[in-house]
Amino acid sequence: MSRSNRSVMNIGCPACNATVNTSLPPGPGIVDTDATSPGDETNRLRGTEARCRNCGHELELYYY
Ligand SMILES: [Zn+2]
Repeated sequence: MSRSNRSVMNIGCPACNATVNTSLPPGPGIVDTDATSPGDETNRLRGTEARCRNCGHELELYYY
């Protein structure tokens, strides 16, 4: 079996309760960054958007 490096998330659309499948791009996750760059903490939270195929509702996802 081949391992996919994308993690797929199934989320429920808040507007119509349909299941929305979205794939998150592979990322480093939570990395131990150098303390030499202050202000990076706010950049740890990443976001992506997905659109419900049923009703077109846009969902914003945030992940680490
Ligand atoms: Zn929907």
